[in-house]
Amino acid sequence: MRQQVNGHGSGSDAHSGGESLREELQEFLGGEALLHQLDDLTQVNPVTLETVLRCLQARYSADMFYTNAGCTLVALNPFKPVPQLYSTELMQEYHAAPQPQKLKPHIFTVGEQTYRNVKSLMEPVNQSIVVSGESGAGKTWTSRCLMKFYAVVAASPTSRESHKIAERIEQRILNSNPVMEAFGNAGTLRNNNSSRFGKFIQLQLNRTQQMTGAAVQTYLLEKTRVACQASSERNFHIFYQICKGASADERLQWHLPEGATFSWLPNPERTLEEDCFEVTREAMLHLGIDAPTQNNIFQALAGLLHLGNIQFADSRDEAQPCQLMDSAKCSARTSASLLRLPEDLLLETLQIRTIRAGRQQQVFQKPCSRAECDTRRDCLAKLVYARLFDWLVSVINSSICADPDSWTTFIGLLDVYGFESFPNNSLEQLCINYANEKLQQHFVAHYLRAQQEEYAAEGLQWSFVNYQDNQTCLDLIEGSPISICSLMNEECRLNRPSSAAQLQTRIESALAGSPCLGHDKLSQEPSFIVVHYAGPVRYHTAGLVEKNKDPVPPELTRLLQQSQDPLLKVLFPPDPEEKSQEEPSGQSRTPVLTVVSKFKASLEQLLQVLHSTTPHYIRCIKPNSQGQAQMFHPEEVLSQLEACGLVETIHISAAGFPIRVSHRNFVERYELLRRLRPGTAPSQSADEGRSERSPRAEQATLQALFQDILHTLPALAQAAATPGDRA
Ligand code: ADP
Ligand code: MG
Repeated sequence: MRQQVNGHGSGSDAHSGGESLREELQEFLGGEALLHQLDDLTQVNPVTLETVLRCLQARYSADMFYTNAGCTLVALNPFKPVPQLYSTELMQEYHAAPQPQKLKPHIFTVGEQTYRNVKSLMEPVNQSIVVSGESGAGKTWTSRCLMKFYAVVAASPTSRESHKIAERIEQRILNSNPVMEAFGNAGTLRNNNSSRFGKFIQLQLNRTQQMTGAAVQTYLLEKTRVACQASSERNFHIFYQICKGASADERLQWHLPEGATFSWLPNPERTLEEDCFEVTREAMLHLGIDAPTQNNIFQALAGLLHLGNIQFADSRDEAQPCQLMDSAKCSARTSASLLRLPEDLLLETLQIRTIRAGRQQQVFQKPCSRAECDTRRDCLAKLVYARLFDWLVSVINSSICADPDSWTTFIGLLDVYGFESFPNNSLEQLCINYANEKLQQHFVAHYLRAQQEEYAAEGLQWSFVNYQDNQTCLDLIEGSPISICSLMNEECRLNRPSSAAQLQTRIESALAGSPCLGHDKLSQEPSFIVVHYAGPVRYHTAGLVEKNKDPVPPELTRLLQQSQDPLLKVLFPPDPEEKSQEEPSGQSRTPVLTVVSKFKASLEQLLQVLHSTTPHYIRCIKPNSQGQAQMFHPEEVLSQLEACGLVETIHISAAGFPIRVSHRNFVERYELLRRLRPGTAPSQSADEGRSERSPRAEQATLQALFQDILHTLPALAQAAATPGDRA
């Protein structure tokens, strides 16, 4: 393979003659014009944020959206349709290529390489593709395209007739995308179609590498969005879809008259492509969710929208429950009827808290404040939506999952939220960044191991210089016996009232020894800083423990268990057996399963799966935050390069031997440099002694050649500056 140095590909094989020599040298010494031709960032010289950035910018301007970075593929979001880049023909081309890595960098190269790895190995090894990047960078797009790629290259052969059957497995797997996106994606400030959950999909392959099914695992749905949307952001797409796409009959049935306004439905005027109800319905149908079940789901969602319009007035007397605002009476009635709950029971559950206390577990009832009523209302909606989402995922899985004995290997696609750092970071960001630390550690460990094995096999002497080991940061977040997670869990377990400032003090004093813990003295609010591999992030401690506890008052679950709605009956089945003594409200005796402990468990499971696979990495980069085509904002890209540790990745590659080139090719390519060195004897044949060389001898020759090149540089500069034939 021809190698390129300093960002320039040589367009010519000629190695002598004045003109070609000069051109070659000018390219070699710094012509920017061809920078875009460099399709592997490990060959940028020197590897710095600036040079990497320049190369990516040059490629972006030339509509080259994919660039290799050692073992990683960098994907720049084009923010414009580039249909020719994702055509079935191109998929077939990468699939059929004898060496797809010799074609232009593309997600299909990664897809095909992964597919061949499964196929070619004697002992099949599962593969995974980890797609990362910040919100709006193109992760979901990329994983969707890869799913389409596999649907084409790994399709099971079918006869003409059966080809028409809509329930073909590949199609069904693809249909899971619009459904999961309708229920799990939303318009945010950063992305009109932002996934509010993490996703790992296993594409299951049989012995002949045909796709026979798939299994989806989701992580940490942002359920708070149902009841609370930041300004200029939106609720999950599905709510807008039902409001815009319902037929006249459905509008009547779901109480969604044209022009109705809902407080949980902000920015309805921002019509998005994702608001297409028909696409969702059609996909649901193909996944086996029939029309009556769909009707039931949408009716329950309409019930949640009306629930959001329920408003309470402050109570003048603390002993009396807050009353419904007059304007909300109709909403309460409609919501109760759509959720098929007794209206008085719904309101009572929102207005009155049940407390059991004392040895006898006496029951006390306490009216809630207006704020408490609001919290309970929001909690009810989150509870229903989160269960509905989980149920949908399980229905999708039962529709697309293959029989365990019909598949032997899988390709896993991981589409998770990238590293986040906002002005105000809370538990969500802590979990997301924790996941990214884990993935980064997996990446470094895997990649180093892979290189180590390769060099050992080639008998090369090498040692790695500093690479960033993020174990210290992970110890701070999740280590035992004491870490941020364990301290937050302890607060939940003790269930003691503690202020944000107290939590900050506890974290700072217990973890003072960690070099990854920082403190912002200027911060007005209680907070702590974690120095992540991608940069420091300040987390506010206010509300952290409460979010970690994610309390669901048992009365809310009991209320939903009394619904007459067939869907809610499935989502909230009766308790297995009536407990003789019910748990005291809010004071569970069983160990508290906190948000971070659940998240940690699912993350560990995911990493176990990833460890059992050969991983591949795609880093998506957003060229600008406006979502504009042909716009490259260097500062924004720079911060993403830092956040995904890309230069670090390239350095890891560079710490080894970034350019893998055979001795023969190397000598052929750079022989002219030897000839340029004043007083150098004509080069020996490139083939000389080649076949008998030991790796060590070969390495010595390469080192001598590099020395030669270094000595030759002054002459090179002269040659480039002086016109005339130097051959
Ligand atoms: P993420 O999942 O990283 O948050 P998405 O995959 O949803 O981001 O991408 C955000 C938007 O960017 C998409 O809705 C689409 O408009 C655009 N986009 C992303 N990748 C591409 C691509 N390869 N070609 C064209 N548009 C893209
Ligand atoms: Mg996404």
